[in-house]
Amino acid sequence: MDNNFMLYNTLTREVQPLVPHEDGKLTMYTCGPTVYHFAHIGNLRTYIMEDVLEKSLRFYGYDVRRIMNITDVGHLSSDADTGEDKMLKGAKREHKTVMEVAKFYTDAFFADCGKLNIRRPDVVEPATSRIADFIEMVSALLDKGYAYVSGGNVYFDTGKLDDYFVFSSAVEREQLMVGVRDDVQEDENKRNKNDFVLWFTKSKFEDQALKWESPWGVGYPGWHIECSCIAIKNAGEYLDLHCGGVDNIFPHHTNEIAQSESYLGHKWCPHWFHVNHLNDQSGKMSKSNGDFLTLSVLEERGYLPLAYRMFCLQSHYRKPLVFSYENLDNVEGAYEKLVKKIATFSDEGGLDRVAYDEYRKKFVDAIASDLNTSMALTVVYDVLKADISDKTKRALITDFDGVLSLDLMTAGERLAESKGGADDELTAWIEEKLTERKEAKKNKDFAKADAIRDELTAKGISIKDTREGTVWEKI
Ligand code: AMP
Ligand code: ZN
Repeated sequence: MDNNFMLYNTLTREVQPLVPHEDGKLTMYTCGPTVYHFAHIGNLRTYIMEDVLEKSLRFYGYDVRRIMNITDVGHLSSDADTGEDKMLKGAKREHKTVMEVAKFYTDAFFADCGKLNIRRPDVVEPATSRIADFIEMVSALLDKGYAYVSGGNVYFDTGKLDDYFVFSSAVEREQLMVGVRDDVQEDENKRNKNDFVLWFTKSKFEDQALKWESPWGVGYPGWHIECSCIAIKNAGEYLDLHCGGVDNIFPHHTNEIAQSESYLGHKWCPHWFHVNHLNDQSGKMSKSNGDFLTLSVLEERGYLPLAYRMFCLQSHYRKPLVFSYENLDNVEGAYEKLVKKIATFSDEGGLDRVAYDEYRKKFVDAIASDLNTSMALTVVYDVLKADISDKTKRALITDFDGVLSLDLMTAGERLAESKGGADDELTAWIEEKLTERKEAKKNKDFAKADAIRDELTAKGISIKDTREGTVWEKI
């Protein structure tokens, strides 16, 4: 197949065609969540954009196999090898075991993904399910001379590589080599400043909950080895596309490349996709500072999860995105209008093949131009306005929604169906009450929201909050 799907590559700093190792097939690896807390809406931005990328590649014709890890051990409070294990921190905070915490937040993560129509990757593996393979990989790195044991830990020796800082410009390299980061305490066991831990047996934290036997003593893996190993075990020696958020570029992805290529003895993954951060007005949203927005908070305030998905799709993944309720309000209004309009299309008339092909091509051109999702949404609006049969419009929007996953065909229909059997005046009154109730929920005035529900019930109207919004019917 033609390989003209253009995508920015962090490794080459260019928008370039994605070229899989095996024609027509594409292996894609995504760094998964660290499950010590809820995912915040910043994390979810990254997963939404990776999901739309995966679906775009399938739409383009690739047979995609997507792999994701779940970080349930080894990710320390700092991305360098210092601080307490994040999982242990979560367990102490909640007076639970590490595995209970991991299960709870893994389930919560996939529940959020479900609400956002994020497809579950083909392979999902928690780090703790692959310990024997990590040990095998660390042993091989020691055998090949790329690793050393010091002070009880196994380290990767970055001094063995000609080019360790693969993502960094000359200036950045200089800063990374000499700069001392505030959050990093020097580890005297390291031969080179940027060496990183492959396996810990000695950590300052004696109460590390999960430990395994290894040739170097009882211990646990470093964070980076899990992604290299889970990717190689599932995708083989050549990975086509690796994804994550921009904070993963250094040190995590830099270290993944170092250890994977040293282990394999050849180049590993040619194309790297990174999603820029979602920020709030005060700066980057981060799980570790505890003050962050989750999807549940948005729902409690009356927002539709899919409105948040559309909010993300409206801006380009490489640009930082600032979250504000005002912007989300605008997007949600546009979303509701859009799906209601689509719901009015009948299934009549013939399919206009020429128009269908023309708009489909426009859509493909948008997604294959460095994943231009806002342009793809514009194509949806172009279809709505086009002078073509409703049947053609429905066919196109159904296809596009396979990528956008905004429930474009069903959300409005459900809202419309729920109104069967009421006259215009009653409908207008109910709509007004529902808007008031939504406003009350957004302002956390739940007493008022409940009172409105009661008022509706008294008039014989039952309401239900669904993923697509509040629907109502006559009792
Ligand atoms: P974590 O659960 O912390 O391992 O992060 C999960 C994913 O979210 C990673 O790919 C991160 O790079 C990404 N991420 C972290 N913070 C943000 C943010 N504020 N905006 C977008 N993505 C983020
Ligand atoms: Zn990773």
